[in-house]
Amino acid sequence: MPTRKILLNEDEIPKQWYNIVPDLPRPLPPFIDAATKQPGVGIVPRIFPKAIIGQEISQERWIDIPEEVREVYRIWRPTPLFRAIGLEKALKTPAKIYYKYEGVSPSGSHKPNTAVPQAFYNMKEGTKRLSTETGAGQWGSALAFAAMIFGLKATVYMVRASYDQKPYRKMMMNAFGAECFASPSNRTEAGRKILAEDPDSTGSLGIAISEAVEDALVNEEETNYTIGSVFNHVLLHQTVIGLETKRQLEMVDDYPDVVYGCIGGGSSYSGLMWPFYYDKVSKKAPKETKFIATEATACPKVTKGQYQYDHGDTARITPLVPMHTLGHDFIPAPIHAGGLRYHGIAPTISLLTQEKQMTTEAYNQVEVFDAAKQFIRAEGIIPAPEPAHAIKGAIDEALRCKKTGEAKTILFLLCGHGFFDMAAYDEYFSGNLQPYEYPTKKVEESMKKLHTLYPWLDEVNKKYISCEPL
Ligand SMILES: *Cc1c(COP(=O)(O)O)cnc(C)c1O
Repeated sequence: MPTRKILLNEDEIPKQWYNIVPDLPRPLPPFIDAATKQPGVGIVPRIFPKAIIGQEISQERWIDIPEEVREVYRIWRPTPLFRAIGLEKALKTPAKIYYKYEGVSPSGSHKPNTAVPQAFYNMKEGTKRLSTETGAGQWGSALAFAAMIFGLKATVYMVRASYDQKPYRKMMMNAFGAECFASPSNRTEAGRKILAEDPDSTGSLGIAISEAVEDALVNEEETNYTIGSVFNHVLLHQTVIGLETKRQLEMVDDYPDVVYGCIGGGSSYSGLMWPFYYDKVSKKAPKETKFIATEATACPKVTKGQYQYDHGDTARITPLVPMHTLGHDFIPAPIHAGGLRYHGIAPTISLLTQEKQMTTEAYNQVEVFDAAKQFIRAEGIIPAPEPAHAIKGAIDEALRCKKTGEAKTILFLLCGHGFFDMAAYDEYFSGNLQPYEYPTKKVEESMKKLHTLYPWLDEVNKKYISCEPL
């Protein structure tokens, strides 16, 4: 029997994070300040500690992980890499399937990998309170945990739809000592403005970000903002996932032909993928590995969105970010993969997509839950709906292998467990779950609005983004 659970020792927790920036096929386009129409970071320096800004713009390939952070990582890291023996058998595939499981962390997903260093650097620079937004509650829980560890207060703005659907997430944040408010709230200008227009607003990640950023700006002296995805420093903190996975696969003398993961803002997938991409660019990879991200047809930013500058938040407080976007006014359908409902994506994912280094596939929530069910019955672990998108991708690939007889090695990221998503499973098992596709027409409407707002946007897009692919 092959080893089912491939484990590392605590002293094998990586000592450095990997930064993809120096290894990208071409430089990342800059942020644009909407006020000056020029490259600039706007309010960013006012809401982050210096150490984080340094990492955000760093050109260094390897960045030391502070000993204090590795000490906290030891609570749940290294995480297990599983050989999906049960799933392989159920599918009768010649393929080998592996999954890296991040659901063993204190909050149940990969998010503490970055929450812990973010809280640490803030503590070191004298911050007293952290503000943030959360969609499904995964990030809010992770940040609450990390703030507690380093003795900081935490305020979390949670998208109203999820706040009502997932009351246990709020209780978890409270247990870690954080406060959690439904967004839109009446605590901020941005929230009050939305509530005045629509008192029953179910909120969005874009609105919640506006509230959390405003909170940090208004209370600039003692409060900083923290973010759970999209920014480069977040993605780089997540590379502990891929670095561990590489060592674990070495232990069983294997290497992936294909790497799957889901993308909300792109942090967990980047965390797994970047170290394998590094092998490729440094000519150390024994295979031509394919990188395939998966997203929801209800929030298809890469497969249906446009690669251009847009704000990261609804109130347009953040600078313009070069990314695939559905428009900053995107209000998602209430699908259950809450972590995949953000309108944009990490700029590195957009660049790697344009340069054909990776691709993205979109699935609807019914086929995704079909895959989750198959996985549960074969492996005994209940996945969150977000990574169930990656499971769907991996199962389809394994079935293609069955047809062709290829014994490929498939790797995917199981980035979180689904213990707080049982209401979604209930809806699925009772046959009430509906597939949903976001219409292309709506993306076009949002883009038209954006270009009316900034008539100069085409020029900026052309200058920084629409360069010829290499
Ligand atoms: C936050 C989250 C996501 C989406 O965020 P990424 O930055 O794309 O990783 C996906 N799955 C889970 C379980 C999450 O908590």
